[in-house]
Parts: sequence; C-alpha cells; structure tokens
Amino acid sequence: MRRRDVIRGTLLGAAATGLDVSLYGQSAGDARNAKDPNATWTREGEIVVERAVAGKPHVGKVLAAIQPHADDIPLFAGGTVAKLIREGYTGYLIRITNDEMTGSGTRGEGVLHNEQDNDAVAKSLGLQKSYSLAYRNHRMDEMSPQDLRGNLILLFRMLKVDTVLCYDHWGLYEENPDHYVTAAAVESAAWMAGMAKDYPEQLEAGLKPHSVTEKYYYARGPQIANRVVDVSADIKQKIASIQAIGTQGPGGDNGARLRQRLAERKLKLPVLGDDDSTANLNYIEHFVLDEDSMHTRGVPSDKEIGAPYGFQWAERFRYIGPNPSRLEAYIAKNAVKF
Ligand SMILES: [Zn+2]
Repeated sequence: MRRRDVIRGTLLGAAATGLDVSLYGQSAGDARNAKDPNATWTREGEIVVERAVAGKPHVGKVLAAIQPHADDIPLFAGGTVAKLIREGYTGYLIRITNDEMTGSGTRGEGVLHNEQDNDAVAKSLGLQKSYSLAYRNHRMDEMSPQDLRGNLILLFRMLKVDTVLCYDHWGLYEENPDHYVTAAAVESAAWMAGMAKDYPEQLEAGLKPHSVTEKYYYARGPQIANRVVDVSADIKQKIASIQAIGTQGPGGDNGARLRQRLAERKLKLPVLGDDDSTANLNYIEHFVLDEDSMHTRGVPSDKEIGAPYGFQWAERFRYIGPNPSRLEAYIAKNAVKF
C-alpha cells in the first residue's frame, strides 16, 4: 500500500470513528474482501471485512460463544454469533463464572437470576445449550488456571468446537480479572485440545483430540482488531439477546425505566416509542449500541464501526484463523525432475 493511502485512510477513519481501529493505523483504506483465499490471516494493520453470506456455508461446523458473565457475548459479539448460526454453525454458550456479584438481593439470588438470563441469551441467539462452569465471580485469580483450562479442553473435545468467540487476552486496559483470566485459559485450551498428550485420561473416556481453528476475540476497550463483521442483518437478534439480561448490564428493562423517569417530569423521548417493551428494545438500539456506547460498553458505536465499510451495524474482532501452507502449491509449480 502506498504511504499516502495509509495516511488518508487513517485520517478518514479517525474522523468517522473516533477512538477505534484507526487508532492502530487500521482504516477503511486497508479493507480487504473476506473472499480473499488468504483472508484467514492478516498482516499487521490490515482489516478483513466479513460480509453476510447467502445460504449455510458453515453447516457441520461448531462454535462456542464463551463469556465470563451473562452479558459479555450479547454486548460485544451477539451479532456475529447470530450471523454464524444463521449461516449454518451449531453453537453452544459457555459461561465461566456464577455471576454472584450482580443483581439485586442476595448473592444467591444473583446466581439464580443470572443463570436464568444466561439460558435466555442462549435461546435468543439460537444456541443449542448453555454450560455454566460457575467459578466464583471476581475471584478467578485465586483459582488454578490449569483447572479452567482442563474444563475447557474437555468441552472443546466433547462438543468438537471449531470456532470460539471470547474476550481478547491482549485487549487493552481491561480491568475485570474474570475477563482476562478467562481469555488466557481459552487461548491455551484452544490448541491444547488437539494434543493427544494433554489430558490423556479424557481420551481414555472416549473423547478425541480436537483443535479450535478459528478464534474471534472481542474486547471491552481498545483492541488491535483485524476483522470487521457486518451484522446489519442480525442486529435485531443482538438487541433481543441484550434485552434478555435483566439482572446486570445496560439492557434488560433500562429503556422502560428511563421512559418512566422522564414521564415523572412530563417528558418523553420519541425514540423510545410509546410502550415499555418498545422502550427496552429501542433504548438498546439507539443508546447502548450507538449514541451512549462508550459509556455503557466502553467501545465505539456499532454504527461507527461499520460506517467506513458501508455497513449499517458491525462488530470488530481480533481474528486468528488457520494459516494454510503454500508449500505444496510451490512444489507443484516449481519442482523439477532430476
Ligand atoms: Zn463481563
């Protein structure tokens, strides 16, 4: 790429999106089409654009949407999970903590309500089943990383997981230990699940080694992203999954409560509509995902992420995929008889 294209792209990106991918020299000017056969990997500074595709190209593949807490996947990757399921994936939700620190009432009540929310999230995104590992919320630093890694390897082998969506272990300025402890365990479990010498007792129980080959890492904050996914067709499902979480996070019935708060002052916001259920959904669409995204989620608006690429709504990730070897093609082209 010519230097002036990089600069122009970066400035345009910065103007359109503020603190987003352009911060790291990535911009609309770097966009490549995901149909590029080499698009599973990127050089630094490149962005792969993943568009919605027709049909079900992912039939036979399995994904695991992994979240420390009930609201993480809906807020940061709900659109992409819905898109990949629509395109043929079979999916499972894996929640790592027991979420005891959120919700009204006692810790026990928080555990119960969050578990119910988590099941509702799985349903709203079209996932087959949810697993809750129930590590103690905010206390994951004290547990053995090996224990969590072993549990994840068991699940990856049992479910034959090809693709994970999880927090980015290298996401910048993450304050929540549950997020980065989970991310580190997922990163290591993803490849060790394919190693026959790791946890051989699982193989004796009938499981087979199975590596995770694609990883979509999301972050709550700045991230060296290399993939932008068009979720315009799936945004309603993402909104529904955020609304399903009533116990924590910015979704639930926050819209209805805002509507009520304004009504007490004889005010209303037309964007919230005229009833509580519309207010809940519209609040998420207009404020959580867009206007007030930096405050509610810590990341730029999904509209701003998509704008440089011509998408109405988009999510961004650090994507790590397989790196197909070019050796055989080189041999076929260059090998000579002697
Ligand atoms: Zn969280």
